[in-house]
Amino acid sequence: MIGKIGQEKLSSSRVAILGCGALGTVAADILARAGVGFLRLIDRDVVEWTNLQRQSLFNEQDAREARAKAEAACDALQRVNSGIVCEPVVSDVNANNITSILSGCDLVIDAADNFAVRFLLNDYSLEQTLPWVHGGCVGTTGQVAFFRGQGRPCFRCLVPEMPPAAAIPTCDTAGVLGSATHAIASLQVTEAIKWLTGNEDAIRPGVFSLDFWTNRNRMIGLPPSLGDSCGACGGGERKFLYGNASGEAEVLCGRLSVQLNPVTASIVNLEEMASRWHSLGEVNSNRFFARIRISESETLTLFRDGRALVDGTDQIWRAKAIYAQLVGG
Ligand SMILES: [Zn+2]
Repeated sequence: MIGKIGQEKLSSSRVAILGCGALGTVAADILARAGVGFLRLIDRDVVEWTNLQRQSLFNEQDAREARAKAEAACDALQRVNSGIVCEPVVSDVNANNITSILSGCDLVIDAADNFAVRFLLNDYSLEQTLPWVHGGCVGTTGQVAFFRGQGRPCFRCLVPEMPPAAAIPTCDTAGVLGSATHAIASLQVTEAIKWLTGNEDAIRPGVFSLDFWTNRNRMIGLPPSLGDSCGACGGGERKFLYGNASGEAEVLCGRLSVQLNPVTASIVNLEEMASRWHSLGEVNSNRFFARIRISESETLTLFRDGRALVDGTDQIWRAKAIYAQLVGG
């Protein structure tokens, strides 16, 4: 099945994990223990207490220090397997940076918590012939699908357009069963290992959908003919990669928090920013972010790529006002 040759293939493989939440931490843990030689962990967020229920690489100290998830996860993985390379990327993936963020990787594990990133990844995968393993989990249900990045079918054959806001339940409105996320991540990794070890024929075709509570499971076929009516793999459309299809501000799922993306990409001097804030409130910073407490309930965290998280509000205008006051632009 895998054998010595397969193991050698794993150790020379490079895998990107998009998202270090419930799916991403479990997938990363299994891949690290399996001996995948290079892992790039990508996440924009920081560890919170509520993450500990299911995000298996994090502990109470990570939450207490609100560490960047990608960095905390990589530290945990290096303690598991010091023989692999684990690279943290603390960034929000968008059309401007996806090429550099995924460069040099053989496969991507989709552990994202939003559709915008999946649509972008689908465009990128088709453009670069990069395989990826989709996984999603809400409530007690989840699904897994492998996309080769080689023509048909693709993710947009399955979901043709971005679902409108509030159209589908999220982890905020429906909650999520921790054991279900572990199971879905395990299924994703299994498909990834088949591909990486050259066992392409064993890959599960179509979409495998499971409800871990009602025990209803089904396979949904994705025949190549679906591509006939698909804008992306059939029509060659790449609007998420080359169009302006991503928003600049969003309220984050499951928390009182707004994320703001800079209009123009740049690298922020965090040290300088922290010193500018010094007299305005309690400030702490490291090489990944600078954070200032604005009031009893609100903080602003600024990352190196100019992106900011405003915690303590779900009002975009409030977040923008705080950003304008403390960061500018
Ligand atoms: Zn398609």
